Amino acid sequence: MTNALEVTDLRKSYGGVDALKGVSLTVPEGSFFGLLGPNGAGKTTFINVLVGLVRASGGSARVFGHDVEDDYREARDRIGVAPQEFNVDRFFPIHEVLEHKAGYHGVSHEEAAERADRALRAVGIHDKRETRFDWLSGGMKRRFMLARALVTEPDLLILDEPSAGVDVQLRRDLWDLVTELNERGTTVLLTTHYIEEAERLCDEVAILDQGRVITVASPDELMDRGADRVVVTLRDPPATVGDLPTDLTDDDRVEDVTLEGPRLVVTARQGGLVAPDLVRGLDRTGYGILDLEIKRTSLEEVFVSMTRDDGGVSDAGVNGADGGADRNESVDDADEPDLVADGGRGGEIDHGGESEYEKESGHGDDGGHGGHE
Ligand code: ATP
Repeated sequence: MTNALEVTDLRKSYGGVDALKGVSLTVPEGSFFGLLGPNGAGKTTFINVLVGLVRASGGSARVFGHDVEDDYREARDRIGVAPQEFNVDRFFPIHEVLEHKAGYHGVSHEEAAERADRALRAVGIHDKRETRFDWLSGGMKRRFMLARALVTEPDLLILDEPSAGVDVQLRRDLWDLVTELNERGTTVLLTTHYIEEAERLCDEVAILDQGRVITVASPDELMDRGADRVVVTLRDPPATVGDLPTDLTDDDRVEDVTLEGPRLVVTARQGGLVAPDLVRGLDRTGYGILDLEIKRTSLEEVFVSMTRDDGGVSDAGVNGADGGADRNESVDDADEPDLVADGGRGGEIDHGGESEYEKESGHGDDGGHGGHE
């Protein structure tokens, strides 16, 4: 099976800032893959390289076997991206924006109109089809970004923090829709700061920190690496932990044992497996058990412990390594690759002289170079 993504030793430097320091990742076709990392970890840069907005300084990235630079068109046609920031032509009815987008990717006019309708229905804003982007509410704008990613019927759907600042209902709708797409075969690459979303949705997550992949694993595997808490409430607790038979907690997985009144608190990896042994041991040695609770470590706790650095902040920019660069705040749709602020250091990609944005929309300038919010 072809992998949706094959990334090898990918590097990107913006002047003095090394945003990607040799990232290697494989995302199998059909998977729901999470890319997690603190602010400044390099997630957006990674996505921008995939969609041809930013030129890598080294390494390679292939989308369904197509190199994102050498086979730009083939690679790009397979991807739909819903960026963090809104980069939409705001002066046209939203269905027209979608039709332009599909047309740019080689879809016939008639088919593009049908797809635009389908995408707007899928995200629940079909009744707004004649409205221009500016006049949509914040939540509708977010829905529209997803519709635009879907209108090309991509094989790889990239969602860069799609649920940032959206209400509960929209978040649920969004995840229902994306889960359904994934079940029908679309590969999903998701970046999110809502770790519980990744825990629930993703088959696999990569944790990125300071431009490097720290680990790739399923949420369950990662949680197994964190410490759970097994809390046993005893009828007649001993005076101190030392009074307990030592073999009770003599387990490599146990990291700590404390007594909090009648509660024996055992901190251990794979607490769900440690608990039965513990209960049997306590029972054997005559301790009556009133209650047992296993508090599993969350992916968020594992994430925090893996990405915590001494200063507690891992954003190179915050640490002053940003060099005052004109940061690309807008994770674009790759519709205007030559308009991206890349610190003015030659990282932008010009796919043939004319910006995609111009080709796609038929408009040279929207007054704001793609309408960055
Ligand atoms: P967040 O979660 O905050 O969106 P991120 O993981 O997406 O962060 P990036 O936006 O890829 O991180 O940034 C990685 C590093 O590269 C940061 O130090 C950032 O300041 C720097 N950077 C990003 N874009 C540019 C640019 N155009 N010019 C200079 N530095 C940049």
